[in-house]
Amino acid sequence: MDSLRITGIRAWGRHGILPEEHQNAQPYIVDITLFLDLSKAGENNSITDTVDYGQVANLVASVIEHSTSDLIEALAQQIASTVLQISKIRRVIVTVHKPHAPLKIPFADVSTTIERSRIAHDSGEDEINDDASELKSNDHGVVQSSIHSDRSHDHQQSQSRPRVHRAIISMGGNLGNVRRAMREAIVAMDGITGNQVMGISPLYRTTPWGMDDHAPDFYNAIVELDTLLDAPGLLKALQLIEAAHGRSHAVHWGSRPLDLDIIDFDHQVSDDPSLTLPHPRAWQRAFVLAPLADLEPDAVLPGEHGGKVADLLAACPDKDTVRRVSDEWIVNGGSEEE
Ligand code: AMP
Repeated sequence: MDSLRITGIRAWGRHGILPEEHQNAQPYIVDITLFLDLSKAGENNSITDTVDYGQVANLVASVIEHSTSDLIEALAQQIASTVLQISKIRRVIVTVHKPHAPLKIPFADVSTTIERSRIAHDSGEDEINDDASELKSNDHGVVQSSIHSDRSHDHQQSQSRPRVHRAIISMGGNLGNVRRAMREAIVAMDGITGNQVMGISPLYRTTPWGMDDHAPDFYNAIVELDTLLDAPGLLKALQLIEAAHGRSHAVHWGSRPLDLDIIDFDHQVSDDPSLTLPHPRAWQRAFVLAPLADLEPDAVLPGEHGGKVADLLAACPDKDTVRRVSDEWIVNGGSEEE
């Protein structure tokens, strides 16, 4: 099978069996080979027919930096299962090097290499051959057809068939090339096995409030996503995408390159602080309500402050802080001349 190989991805992480290794970061180097069908990419010369290796490198670095494990074997496993979330990738070979491992005698390098793949079942469904993985699901094309057949035959839905959830995600940011980060985030969300982006709103520009006067304007948009992940699994995936774009949660209300929030998930209502549904401030944020109303004019938010999104927007005191700047931003990059 065709392959793409990235070598020497470097990032600092805290992995090891000694307590100080969890305190003090040390460098890790990863080589990764991705196996996927590249024939369409070769014919069409189009990035949408392959995987963005920059995005994969960011994901790998983010796993090194943000996960913790005792063993490099476990780190390699986590990298493999994260990368296999990208549905086009069929198999990966991951080598993790730990050149500063705490050995008492001089040495050049220590490394482990693992190989993980999806297993194709007779049913046409794929599974990642990693027991630790939370994602055991169809490949992308199969997901799409199961979404449509599930919808038309809800009453016949088989117990064994994975359940498709509908999520509304808000995207925003005001640092760096936000429109590019948002486009990459959409590709990353769609690339996760079991996810299918169903709709993308126009792009909005929002004047920040409650922040320093020099804070740049935010760009915002809404994505509608069908997903086989449960809500906590989806939040974890979104946080990995945020981290790959340099988002740190150190400053809660600060400027940020990319913020991804779950606004609604199957109309569930939950006051769990780690995942509040619907998003606790969505009902009063024009930069969420305006693009959502554009995308789905009849959208409704559940819960105590819920209601028809268009009505919530009409009552929203900050509705004049948002400006629709582009309908075609996914294809034209969001130039504001539109
Ligand atoms: P923020 O800095 O606004 O992105 O907030 C991130 C924190 O909010 C994380 O600790 C999340 O666990 C928590 N959180 C609670 N509800 C949600 C939600 N609906 N979507 C995203 N993050 C949420």
